[in-house]
Amino acid sequence: MPTELIAKYDTRIPRYTSYPTAPHFHAGITPTDFRAWLDALPPTQELSLYLHVPYCESLCWFCGCHTRGAPSYAPVTSYVETLKREIALVARRLERDGSAPHPVRHVHFGGGSPSILAAADFADLIAALRRDFRFRDDAAIAVELDPRTTHADLIAAMAGAGVTRASVGVQDLTPKVQKAIHRIQPFAMVERTIRGLRDAGIGHINVDLMYGLPHQTEADVRETIRRVLELAPDRLAVFGYAHVPWMRKLQNLIPEDTLPGAEARWAQAMAARQMLLENGYVAIGFDHYAHPDDDLARALADGTLNRNFQGYTSDTATALIGMGASGISELPQGYAVNDGDIAAYAESIAAGEFATRRGIAVSVEDKARRAIIERLMCDLRVDVAATAALHGVDVDGLRADYERLREMETDGLLVRDGDVVRVTENGRPFVRSACAAFDRYLVAGEQRHSRAV
Ligand code: SF4
Repeated sequence: MPTELIAKYDTRIPRYTSYPTAPHFHAGITPTDFRAWLDALPPTQELSLYLHVPYCESLCWFCGCHTRGAPSYAPVTSYVETLKREIALVARRLERDGSAPHPVRHVHFGGGSPSILAAADFADLIAALRRDFRFRDDAAIAVELDPRTTHADLIAAMAGAGVTRASVGVQDLTPKVQKAIHRIQPFAMVERTIRGLRDAGIGHINVDLMYGLPHQTEADVRETIRRVLELAPDRLAVFGYAHVPWMRKLQNLIPEDTLPGAEARWAQAMAARQMLLENGYVAIGFDHYAHPDDDLARALADGTLNRNFQGYTSDTATALIGMGASGISELPQGYAVNDGDIAAYAESIAAGEFATRRGIAVSVEDKARRAIIERLMCDLRVDVAATAALHGVDVDGLRADYERLREMETDGLLVRDGDVVRVTENGRPFVRSACAAFDRYLVAGEQRHSRAV
């Protein structure tokens, strides 16, 4: 890729895990809205549940997650009690005639580090979910894990609770990089965790890697991937580090001059891509790779790949209920976000009230634009006219957006055939730039998002 193209498209663009994107959420969405949105869900509506655990034993300096350090377990104990109360609160609201009618298709524990949970607390949370919700027999239960805090008793509890997938945070295995991001976890620890999960029967393993980290080189990325491939993960996510110290104070501990520049980042991302494709993984969107037998690769093949706050997903439930501090719900009517302040969140739940503080109601046009963006992010192709028609939106109102795609077309990053837009393989890393053309909320030049490369 020529240097000038990398420079041209290396701008800050949303990751489009939602549309409208989070910076456009506002305080006008309240618990009253959230209650009404839950009440309007038809009994046949399948659900996804997300539980946020905003604690880590030690904080990594690159982290962009909503989390905090837990110097002792006491705050986690009381947080688990609050989560259980919230589970009951949501379930009671959804009840029809005394029973929870909505089938649960997918459960995801994210954070923070859900692996900070004591085995008994994890088992308790799953028991509370199973008591209050009706799980489909094939429900997927996924948990994000930090190998440094994933102990054998937790693995046993997860296996006993029916966990089907674990996402293991690795980032980079090079000692100098691990030191620079304040996250020391040797390969042996990662290997022990993944082998332990598989031995316990948790068969689907994701590994999260990063490029663009301080002191990281292309050789480091290659060596990390070489070692990780020995463990044969089913999926890999390869995220570009987003240096936004004005939003994430801890990132101030990472000196800017230790970060690879745009071209080095590009080389790292491409090295990862080349190695994973050569090893038989399928490229999913711009930052995920999946074994051809993995659900994500199958979803891509049959056109059912989706995108939500956890990134790419094979989950097809159209109602996601987010629980925990900063938990985000995505319901047919819009997005609702819980208070990110743990004490304020807990206070609301203790009072028997939802902790909704922000969000946005989505219009019909938002839904059409969201569908266009989602198809582009997932399939790298979208029929704009067909998608608009599906949502009852006049395609003429969207055609003006094609103008913004012209430059990408000229640069060979996408092709347009009438109302069909297709991102080329060269354009894959820049797919977010194509999506941005359809984002009517995006303010040109705003610096709130992560770099495209
Ligand atoms: S363990 Fe995960 S969530 Fe916690 S600070 Fe590190 S990267 Fe962030």
